Amino acid sequence: MSMPYEKNQILTVEIEDITSEGEGIGKISGYPFFVKDAVIGDTVQIRVTRTKKNYAYGRLEKVVEPSPFRVEPICGFHKQCGGCQIQAMDYERQLEFKQSKVRNNLVRIGGFDAEFIDGVMEPVVGMEDPFHYRNKAQYPIGKDKEGKPIAGFYAGRTHSIIANTDCGLGVLENKEILETVLSYMEENHVPAYEEAAGEGLIRHVLIRKGFYSGEIMVCLVISGKKRGSVFLPSQEKLICDLSRIKGMTSISVSINTEKTNVIMGKEIHTIWGRSTINDTIFVRDAENGFELQGKGITFAISPLSFYQVNPVQTEKLYSLALSYAGLTGKETVWDLYCGIGTISLFLAGRAKEVYGVEIVPQAIRDAKENALRNGIGNAAFFVGKAEEVLPEKFEKENIYADVIMVDPPRKGCDAACLETMLKMRPERIVYVSCDSATLARDLKVLCGGGYEIKRVRAVDMFPMTVHVETVVSLIRIK
Ligand code: SAH
Repeated sequence: MSMPYEKNQILTVEIEDITSEGEGIGKISGYPFFVKDAVIGDTVQIRVTRTKKNYAYGRLEKVVEPSPFRVEPICGFHKQCGGCQIQAMDYERQLEFKQSKVRNNLVRIGGFDAEFIDGVMEPVVGMEDPFHYRNKAQYPIGKDKEGKPIAGFYAGRTHSIIANTDCGLGVLENKEILETVLSYMEENHVPAYEEAAGEGLIRHVLIRKGFYSGEIMVCLVISGKKRGSVFLPSQEKLICDLSRIKGMTSISVSINTEKTNVIMGKEIHTIWGRSTINDTIFVRDAENGFELQGKGITFAISPLSFYQVNPVQTEKLYSLALSYAGLTGKETVWDLYCGIGTISLFLAGRAKEVYGVEIVPQAIRDAKENALRNGIGNAAFFVGKAEEVLPEKFEKENIYADVIMVDPPRKGCDAACLETMLKMRPERIVYVSCDSATLARDLKVLCGGGYEIKRVRAVDMFPMTVHVETVVSLIRIK
């Protein structure tokens, strides 16, 4: 039988489940309806927007009976923005959702026994305060109907900007900084960049804050070159206003004259203060409530550096990875997909030696500098693809590892990388993952090659969104 419901039909449905992308799922006569912004437990009225053979999509029209897990979102724009897919869901319920998302992927995609996974999975690590956790924000700049400059966000998958300087995930300073930039633009007739025409000047404002240092960086992405000795009209006025903001450490411009979706230009010029800000992250005792334990590691962050966006949870994630690595000080560790060496430098304090591999050359330059800055002498770094560097070094130099740590992007590890890891036969493997589906796929390979999962723990790095980070420890079966 084909779908008996039609487009634009109004229906009432009870939301019984959530997709991994955060949409509610309700069923009518066995047909599933996917409803964005509906919370599990809600009874909602929907308008059918799209029908397929066996399922349909509905737009939330009205919440008839709110779920006990439904909360008032702090941001009035959460539906339009799409950045926070599950902000209307109680935080405890969000954590439960993430826990079962990881569990279900390991069972369904990884093919592991559900009881076994329940036995090795530890409770998800949540945040005490799940808002204002992001240390980085990138706001597009545009203009409203009256031509006044605005800063905000792109309305879900479009390129029209909705004004909002107060994103609930960002630091409180963002608002004051953006308002300062907008008043400067208005008073000095500095035009916002217009994507369609490719005209105007100010494209984006990037803001970063070191949570530990309190240092703030502002980088204006502009579509223009230096004129005389300045990049911006009335540049002194902008600098004067911005530099008064508490914590302001670095003000720069990034030149991006291309017609492109890429936000940052390659050329960065510091126009006030330092060119980087510092931040420090500390080793915590992952086995004891994440109590502060070790000394901190300090990183210098430039507008272009990769740096984890949730520093509070990053400390917990890395401390957990460190604990799972089970280091005693004698081990040789390989850290694949090492970025700017954050995990590598965390591990170095407890290992004999650490080798990092990363594809982005600038990240490796940063990693080396970060090692020097922190007086760490037992970490070395290599530029290249993990799936090429590792096999090459293994075949030519017969490299060795007691522990291999991986932290790949969403697509997971390359097959050639996994294969070499298995050939290297490390005692332990620690897998840090930002996508539990590819994690499950890779774990299946590793467990098929002589390894066994010991511990699994999810960490909520991105509250209010559907994303979840996972750490897994594996040991070689004797
Ligand atoms: N461990 C780091 C970075 C993790 S993000 C941290 O926690 O800060 C994943 C990193 O993998 C990125 O820096 C990305 O540039 C890098 N990467 C992507 N594909 C890669 C590949 N094939 N080989 C090596 N590194 C890769």
